[in-house]
Amino acid sequence: MQHVPARPFRTAPRRHRLTLAVPLCLLASLGPGSGTRADGPLREPPEVSEAASRLHFDAIVVDGHSDTTPLFQDPSWRFDERHDDTHMDLPRIREGGLDVQFWSIYMGALEGDGRAIREAIERIDAVHELVRRFPDDLALAGSVASIRSAVGSGKVASLMGVEGGHIIEGRLAALRTFYRLGVRYMTLTHSFHTEWADSSGTEEALEPLHGGLTSFGRQVVREMNRLGMLVDVSHVSDQTFFDAIEVSRAPVIASHSSCRAVANHPRNMTDAMLRALAQNGGVVMLNFYPAYIDERAADSTKAHRASLSEDIALIEQRYPEDEFARRRARRQLRLEKPYPQAPLSVLLDHFDHAIEVAGADHVGIGGDWDGVPSLPRGMEDVSQLPRLTQALLNRGHSEETVRKILGENLLRVLARAEDVAKEIAATARTQARARRPRAGRTSELARNASPARD
Ligand SMILES: [Zn+2]
Repeated sequence: MQHVPARPFRTAPRRHRLTLAVPLCLLASLGPGSGTRADGPLREPPEVSEAASRLHFDAIVVDGHSDTTPLFQDPSWRFDERHDDTHMDLPRIREGGLDVQFWSIYMGALEGDGRAIREAIERIDAVHELVRRFPDDLALAGSVASIRSAVGSGKVASLMGVEGGHIIEGRLAALRTFYRLGVRYMTLTHSFHTEWADSSGTEEALEPLHGGLTSFGRQVVREMNRLGMLVDVSHVSDQTFFDAIEVSRAPVIASHSSCRAVANHPRNMTDAMLRALAQNGGVVMLNFYPAYIDERAADSTKAHRASLSEDIALIEQRYPEDEFARRRARRQLRLEKPYPQAPLSVLLDHFDHAIEVAGADHVGIGGDWDGVPSLPRGMEDVSQLPRLTQALLNRGHSEETVRKILGENLLRVLARAEDVAKEIAATARTQARARRPRAGRTSELARNASPARD
C-alpha cells in the first residue's frame, strides 16, 4: 500500500535535500484519527509539516535493522526501482530520508559444518556488490567518521549486522573475519538458543538452556569489545541480556526490540532491562512490527498466519528448488492477503515509554523492514519515516530529542565502542611491552651470558 505517489528520488547532496523534501508534507495522506493523547486527537497518520520535514532531512537518520538483504542476491530484483511488495528500495529510502542502514546478515539454523559461515559470506558479498553498483547512492561505512563523511556527501551509509550468534559456528575467527568485512554488530542469538547463549524465543518464550551466556559466550562478548563490534541484545533471553550488560565494556544495543510494558511479548524489553541498558549507555532501537508492539495485532497475526498455511505450503511445493521464486510468491501472497496492522499511535506509545524509562539518550529506530510481514498504518514502508519525526514532535518531544532518536544516539554508542576497542588495544600494547625484556637489560643479560670479550 502506497500513500506517497512515486516521484524522482533524491541524489543531491544533503544541503539540497530540503527543497526536494518539502513536497512530502503536501502529499501525506490523512487517515481517520484513532489516537488521543494530551495533545488532543491525533490525525493518523500525521501530516508532515515543513518544520518536521526540515528537521528530519537535516538530521542523520539511522535504522538498526533491515532484512531487505536477501533481495540483493536475487538477480531479477532492482534496488533502484520502486516496489509495492517490499518495505525498502532506493527510491523509497531517499523519500524517507534514511541515511544509515544496518543490513541484516541473517539465516536460520542450518545443518552442516561451515554452511552458515558460507551463506553469511555470500550475503555480505551481496551488500558489497550492491554498494559497488550504486556508488553515487551508497557507501560502505565501518566507523562513525566514515558514516558522517558518507552522509555528508549525500550517500546512504551501509553497515552490516550478523543476526544470530549461531552464524559464527563457534569460531572467533569467523567473528573477526565478519568484522573485517564490515559487520558492526552481532545479535547474540536469533529466536533459538545457540551453543553459548539463550534466546527469548519469538512465538513463545523458550525454557532457558544455559541460564544466559556460557563462558564461551562471555568470551564472544569480550572479543566483540576488542574488535569494536556492537553487542546486539535483540532476540536474547532476559538473563543473556543481563549477562551481556555485565560482561561488555562497551555500551550494547538492541537493534530491533520494543517495550514489554506496552506489549507483553518475550522479545520485547522489560522496564528493568530498559533501565539497565540506559545505565550501560546503550540504545534500544524500537521494532515496528505490529505483532510485537500491539497485543491485539499479535493475536490476529497468529490467526492470519494459520489461515495462510495452505497457501504457504503450495508455494513451497511449487518452487522447491528456487528460493527467489518462493520469496516472490510469498510477497505476492502478502499483497493479496495482507497481515494485520496496528495504529501508528501504538508505535508512538513504545517510543514514549522507552524515552520515559530509559531516557531520550537511549532510544533509536530499528524498523525490521522486510523481516516482518506488516508494519503500522501510515508507516507501511521506509518512505514514510518523516511521519515518525512529525509524530514524535506531536507527542511533545523536543527537536533535540528527536535528533538523538533519529540517529545521534546510535552514533554515540558506536563511537564509544570504537574508543573501548582502542583502550583495549592500548592496554594490550602496554602489557606486551612490560613482558618484553627492556633493551638495556637485554644487553646486560647478553654480556653476562657471553664469554668475556676485549
Ligand atoms: Zn530479528
